[in-house]
Amino acid sequence: MRILVTNDDGVSSQGLHALAEAMRTLGRVTVIAPERERGAIGHAVTLHKPLRLIHVAKDVYAVNGTPSDCVLLGVTQLMRKAPSLVITGINRGLNLGDDVTYSGTVSAALEGTLLGIPSIAVSLEGEGTFRFETAAYYAARIAEAVLRHGLPPETLLNVNVPNRSRAAVAGVKVTALSRRQFVDPVIEKIDPRGRKYYWIAGTRVSWDRGKDSDEQAIRHGLVSMTPLHMDLTHYGALDDLRTWERTLQNGAGTRPSRPAKRRPAQAPARHSRRR
Ligand code: MN
Repeated sequence: MRILVTNDDGVSSQGLHALAEAMRTLGRVTVIAPERERGAIGHAVTLHKPLRLIHVAKDVYAVNGTPSDCVLLGVTQLMRKAPSLVITGINRGLNLGDDVTYSGTVSAALEGTLLGIPSIAVSLEGEGTFRFETAAYYAARIAEAVLRHGLPPETLLNVNVPNRSRAAVAGVKVTALSRRQFVDPVIEKIDPRGRKYYWIAGTRVSWDRGKDSDEQAIRHGLVSMTPLHMDLTHYGALDDLRTWERTLQNGAGTRPSRPAKRRPAQAPARHSRRR
């Protein structure tokens, strides 16, 4: 069994190697990771410069690209057969709620899912001292379960682990994404030459504290496991938006409050569609 391991913190990250070691208990592991930290890079792929594969050690490679590049190169260039699992992390810091859309860790797992491979993203709470051994332990248990049961189509698992000793972890909980936002997301400052500059920072707050959210699970010392679906379509909104279709086609604007007056103008379009 082959397992591909990557991350967005870079090939020298401690979390990457803790994860690879845990995966070696389950199968043969290939590590392919960005040569340097590429956090908050989302699902970016490199299209405008050559990518190089650097052989670092046995079954360990670095790439001058993004986490998603690593998954693509790993699966298509390093492996003769698609791996049974793509697993990314262990990220230094949580990937909860809305943050998953920025996350290189989650996006690398998304790339694995796009390639049709069961994929897991693993992130660890905290700053400074990380208990990678706790996250590695749960990554191995969850990977085992995924290898045994598979995942629903087009679905990846986003796993977040509290920064505690294994004994202090309260359990594993299946969760939904919380809503997280920044207070004062952009800070304006003045540089030494008197010009304005901006820093994207701010304080993260969650306002959805639903008991089944990923954020609540971490708060209660639980490992959070969120199934993420690749299809972002909001099916519930389709019918409502379809009422705009005809107006948009006639170039008559989108104000739903005026459809009665516009109806005669729409008649020809209706006829032509019937033909
Ligand atoms: Mn990271």
